Amino acid sequence: MSEKTAPFTRRPDPPGRGTVPEDPLAEQLRQLGLYVMAERYAALAEEARKAKSPYPQYLGTLVTAQLAARMDRSFRERLARARFPVVKTLEGFDFTFQSQLDETHLRTLAELTFLAKAESVLFVGPPGVGKTHLATALGVRACAARKRVQFYPVLELMDQLVTAEAAGLLPGKLGELSRLDLLILDELGYLSLDRRRANLFFQVVSRLYEKGSIIVTTNRRFESWAEIFAGDAVIAGAILDRLLHHRQLVVINGPSYRTPELTGGLGGLGEAPRDAAGVGGERAHPG
Ligand code: ADP
Ligand code: MG
Repeated sequence: MSEKTAPFTRRPDPPGRGTVPEDPLAEQLRQLGLYVMAERYAALAEEARKAKSPYPQYLGTLVTAQLAARMDRSFRERLARARFPVVKTLEGFDFTFQSQLDETHLRTLAELTFLAKAESVLFVGPPGVGKTHLATALGVRACAARKRVQFYPVLELMDQLVTAEAAGLLPGKLGELSRLDLLILDELGYLSLDRRRANLFFQVVSRLYEKGSIIVTTNRRFESWAEIFAGDAVIAGAILDRLLHHRQLVVINGPSYRTPELTGGLGGLGEAPRDAAGVGGERAHPG
């Protein structure tokens, strides 16, 4: 919009004093960081004048506009900080495709009470069934609810922690993670962790236990988790113990969305859970 189209925000420059702000009120609002109010106060004042609306209502409209912009920006900043590989939503998930999945359970999870209770959420199933999609969708909801969220492929986080440890920066990095409301650890189990990384994984889980929530996506049944953690049944047990103590379990046994045509033919491959995740999970789906 050119300045000429906004006559209410523009005062004529006093002769010979080009440095005087042309709109002192807008300038003050900008100094307070209230950019939306600075930009819109004059036009909204004109509307209010025409509608004869009371002053408090005018002020309310103006503040609401500023607040909405700030919420929006905070959401975008939280999304950026969470570092989702691709932003996904629950609305974009086709529940009819994944027909055994308990949609109600997912919708309940999306209300985020699991965050308030510092519960963990485990998505277990073969490749392509939507584990990462759903974990991301919950993370996006958490960002919208002004929570601190981070998404990591497990191996990437473990590599970062190894580097931090070598540089003497591990306590700081673990401290950072422990202040999150939600840590999403994607793709546990495709590759095994060595002893050092298994140990670091345990430290991460311990730090967040009963303080923040962890979402894990995995293709491995719990009974084979020792293989993921350097063949160490003790550390796998300690990790599972914490992750399963307050848990929401979502087992997805359906077809791959990526390659639905292959699902039948490859059904016996890999470590994909068939009828449960390997625990007596109250939420495990039969079949
Ligand atoms: P997984 O993590 O279980 O291997 P993903 O969540 O990465 O699977 O899903 C693979 C791709 O298919 C992604 O692009 C995801 O958005 C999409 N997808 C999976 N399931 C569904 C579904 N039921 N509805 C819509 N998109 C889906
Ligand atoms: Mg995935």
